[in-house]
Amino acid sequence: MKLGMERAAFFGRLRTLSLSKCRVNFSHKFHLLDIFLSHLKVNLLPMSEWLLTDLHVHTTFSDGTIPAEEVARIYGEAGFDVIAITDHLFDTQSPRSLELYEEGKSIRDLGAYFHKIEEVSRWAKESYGLLVIPGLEICNLLEDYHILGIDLKEPVNPNQNAEGVIEEIHHQGGLAIASHPHLKLSYFMQGDNVSIQRHPLHLWKHRKRYAEKIDAWEIGNGEDLFAIISLERLPFVANSDFHERRHLTSWKSLVLAEREKESIKEAILKRKLSLFFFNENGSAEKLSQVEIASEEKGSPEQTEGKGEKILIVDDEPDLVGMLAYNLRKKEYKVLTAYNGFGAWGKIESEKPDLLILDLMMPDLDGWELCRMIRRNDREEIRGMGILMLTARAMPEDRVYGLEIGADDYLTKPFSLNELTLRVEKLAEKKKVIRRLKEETESLHSSIHEKESSLKKVVHDLKNPLLSIGVSAKRMLRRNQNEEELQILENIYDSSVRLTRWIDDTLVSSHSRQKIKEGMREVEIKPMVQQVINLLKEAGRDKNIEIHFEVPPPTPLVYCQEQLLLRAMQNLLSNALKFTPRGGKIDVAVTPYSGLKDGGIVEISIKDTGIGIGEDEIERIFEPFYRGKNASMEDGIGLGLSFVKEVVDLHGGKILVQSEPQKGTTFSILLPIGKKFKL
Ligand code: ADP
Repeated sequence: MKLGMERAAFFGRLRTLSLSKCRVNFSHKFHLLDIFLSHLKVNLLPMSEWLLTDLHVHTTFSDGTIPAEEVARIYGEAGFDVIAITDHLFDTQSPRSLELYEEGKSIRDLGAYFHKIEEVSRWAKESYGLLVIPGLEICNLLEDYHILGIDLKEPVNPNQNAEGVIEEIHHQGGLAIASHPHLKLSYFMQGDNVSIQRHPLHLWKHRKRYAEKIDAWEIGNGEDLFAIISLERLPFVANSDFHERRHLTSWKSLVLAEREKESIKEAILKRKLSLFFFNENGSAEKLSQVEIASEEKGSPEQTEGKGEKILIVDDEPDLVGMLAYNLRKKEYKVLTAYNGFGAWGKIESEKPDLLILDLMMPDLDGWELCRMIRRNDREEIRGMGILMLTARAMPEDRVYGLEIGADDYLTKPFSLNELTLRVEKLAEKKKVIRRLKEETESLHSSIHEKESSLKKVVHDLKNPLLSIGVSAKRMLRRNQNEEELQILENIYDSSVRLTRWIDDTLVSSHSRQKIKEGMREVEIKPMVQQVINLLKEAGRDKNIEIHFEVPPPTPLVYCQEQLLLRAMQNLLSNALKFTPRGGKIDVAVTPYSGLKDGGIVEISIKDTGIGIGEDEIERIFEPFYRGKNASMEDGIGLGLSFVKEVVDLHGGKILVQSEPQKGTTFSILLPIGKKFKL
C-alpha cells in the first residue's frame, strides 16, 4: 500500500493495520464496521492506494448549504482523496419538482454548474491533492428514482425513465449509482413522516430489473446503513449525501485505486472498496445506538402493546415495516403478513381486531380475503375492522371495496398521518361496537329474566281478577239495590278492563316459536260468533245492532285461537266504543278462492261510528296512540297495536277504511288452511 506524503498525518492516526487477520483498527476518528479484503490478494497494484472518497455531495447549486469552493476546502482539510459533486437535477414534469425548482433545490444553470466544478476541481487538486469529480443526482419524482451520475461531462435528461438515465450516464462513460435506494431508518427515528412518504423506492422495488444496469447501490447514505444490499449481493458504495457541515460525519468508502477517475470507477465496479463510519469530531456519540439495534434485530411484528391487535398485509416489505414501526409507536400490537395466504393463517390463529389490507397480492388478493372474512361464521373474524390500502384509485374500486365489507379505503400514495388517524378512528369504532354488543347481550338476558318474572306476576294477577269479575257479575244478577248495582258494575267493568290491559301488554312477549306451537286449524264462524256473544250485551246497552253474516261453508283458519279471538274482540269492542247509540255494526267473513287448502279469508267489522281522521289512520296501530276522537272514551291505545301484532304473527294483513262521522271498517286478511308458514 502506497501512502502519499501529505496523507501521512491522516493515516498516522491508524494504530494497527493487520491485513493477514483481515482486521483493521482505526484511531478514535474512525469506527470500523466492516472490511472486504477478498480481492486484495490478486489486485494490489503498485500505484493503488486506499482512497478516502465521498461520491454524493451537494452544494448551493441545489439544496446544499455550502458553496462548491467551501465544500472542497472542508473535504480537503478533512483529508479526503476524492469527492464527486452531485447536485440535484429534478424532472420538470411533476408538480412537486416544479416547486423544488422554485425553491432553488434543483440546478438551474447547468453550464455554470459544470464550469464551477471544473474550476474548483483544479484548485482543490493544487491545494489538497483532492480529486473533485463532476456529477449529478438525477431525480424523477413521477418515476420515483434518484440516480447518481458520477464523472459526467454534460447534463443528463431527467424527464425519462430510469433506464434512459442510466444509459445516458454510461454513454458519457460515467458510473450510475442508486442513491439511498432503501427506506432510511433515521427518518423513523426522527419521526420524519414527510421524508418517509417522499422517499424514492422505484429502483429498490425493481432491483432485479436494475441489478445488471446500476453500477453500485448506496449501502450507506449519511448515517443510514442498508445491510440488505449486501445480503442481496449487490455491488455497493457508501456516501454521505452531504448537504451541510455536520454531514461529514457519516458512512464513507475507502476505494482501492489510483488517484485518477478511470481507476476509481473501475475499482468500484470491481468492488475493491471498504466502508466505514467517518466521525469528524471524534467524540463517540452513542445516542441512537440502542434504538437502532432493537430496530434492526426485531422483525416488524410485535404483539406487545396496550392497543388493538392490527394485522398489516402487503407484499411490499418496506411499506409493512414503515407502517408497523409507526403503529407500534402508537402502542398497537402489530402483526404482519406479506401475502394473502399468510394473512389468512394469522387471521385464524391471532384473530386481530383490525386489518390493513393491500388489494394487489400475488396469491389471494385483498378482495377475496375481505370476502372470506365477512363470510366467516366466527363472529370475532367476521367483525374485524378492515382498512383497504391500494394503488388503485378508481372510485368504483372504492365503492366495490366498501360493498364487499371494507370499513374504510385509502389510496396509495397515502399520508402516514391520515392512515394512522383512520386506524385510530376505526379502532375506536370497533371498540364502541363491541361494547354495544356486550351491552345488548346483557340487556337481552335481563329482559328475558324480567319477562319470565312478569309472566308469573300476570298469571298470579289475572286469575283473582277474573274471579272478582265473575263474582261481581253473579251478584249483579241477584241484586236490586240501585246504588249497589252501580258499584258492582264498576267492579265488573274495572276487572274486565284490567284483564284486557294485562293481555294486551303481555302479548308482545309471545315469541314466534310459542305462537307456532299453539297453532291449529279452527273453524272461523264459531270463533267470530263467540266474540259477538261476548260483547252482545254491551251492544244492547248502547242500542247497537250487531249483524253477522257468513256464507256457507265456513272456512278453516290455521291460527292461534286465543290470540285471534282477542284481536277480533278488540276490533269489535272498539266499534262499539266509537259508535254512538243506535248505530249499526256489520261483521262478515268472506273467503276468497279455495276454502280448505288455500286462499284468503277476510274478517271485517264495519261500524257507523265517529270515524278516524285521514291524517291519523297511519298512526292508530302504534302502541299507546289514541286518536283525537278518543278523548271521550276509555282506553290506553294498546288495542290496535295488539291486533296488528297478532295479524302479523299469522302472516296476515290488517286494512282500515274510515270516514269521519260516517263509520269505520277494519278487515283482517288471513291465509286459509295449513299452507302458510310462520
Ligand atoms: P284505544 O281504543 O284504547 O284508544 P286502540 O289502539 O284500540 O286504543 O285504538 C287506537 C285509536 O284508534 C283510538 O284511540 C281511536 O282514535 C281509533 N279507533 C280505533 N277503532 C276505531 C273505530 N272503530 N272508530 C273510530 N276510531 C277508532
